[in-house]
Amino acid sequence: MNGAMAGSSHVSADARKLVGKVAVITGGASGIGACTARLFVKHGARVVVADIQDELGASLVAELGPDASSYVHCDVTNEGDVAAAVDHAVATFGKLDVMFNNAGVTGPPCFRITESTKEDFERVLAVNLIGPFLGTKHAARVMAPARRGSIISTASLSSSVSGTASHAYTTSKRALVGFTENAAGELGRHGIRVNCVSPAAVATPLARAAMGMDMDDETIETIMEKSANLKGVGLKVDDIAAAALFLASDDGRYVSGQNLRVDGGVSVVNSSFGFFRD
Ligand code: NAD
Repeated sequence: MNGAMAGSSHVSADARKLVGKVAVITGGASGIGACTARLFVKHGARVVVADIQDELGASLVAELGPDASSYVHCDVTNEGDVAAAVDHAVATFGKLDVMFNNAGVTGPPCFRITESTKEDFERVLAVNLIGPFLGTKHAARVMAPARRGSIISTASLSSSVSGTASHAYTTSKRALVGFTENAAGELGRHGIRVNCVSPAAVATPLARAAMGMDMDDETIETIMEKSANLKGVGLKVDDIAAAALFLASDDGRYVSGQNLRVDGGVSVVNSSFGFFRD
């Protein structure tokens, strides 16, 4: 898996990993979700882009083509919307093989508990945790009778490391890993795999909001490179799409209950000791 592979403009017919598969991608209109939609389609999937940014979602679907994609307005905090997005995939493309619970928000860039509000905390949990719960519930509803499926949620580096995001965001992503493991435990008997991908910071509108600053992608990448464990390779949205492709495809056919960290190893190193410095 690498960015170059994910970003390549053409995938030969033999190398395509999702031929005949149908996916729903929440938060699919932007950032990681949009990149994954493009990659899944390149690999032969048909994709339902589910988001609240209708114009952006419609323009992505126009780019991908009506045979390979469809857009639905879906607020992941609304159970009716999530159920309808899953039903739309089945009605339009005949089934659902892959559910990518990817929609997320950071909430305000607030790192002080005394300044955090209950409303902001609840809103972040609603999108980042209740959203994947609803996506998993309704995906399982149609996947279990078919006895197959891959459910993937986007967690975060903050699912493993404290101090990288707000209290609300960290709580939502850590709880998402617990939920993923529990769902994997229940749904395995139906042939359904359930996993997370956990990226480090990557330049998207969400990352810009999290940093609370108006930065261009290059500036974000330069800042992240400085704190990265793995040097010489900047994390791109393509790398996270490639990880999602692995979990969605038969390459990951026996992988379930995992939190696949796409962070260059930064979550497993305590660099404050300085043992690995030159
Ligand atoms: P993004 O802002 O480009 O995309 C997020 C998408 O989610 C947007 O299209 C937005 O409209 C959608 N969304 C927000 N609330 C929604 C709702 N209620 N219902 C449906 N859609 C909604 O950001 P991104 O970085 O691509 O974020 C994708 C996921 O990656 C998120 O879950 C985020 O927490 C996670 N993540 C991002 C980073 C990063 O640095 N960018 C790092 C770790 C994890």
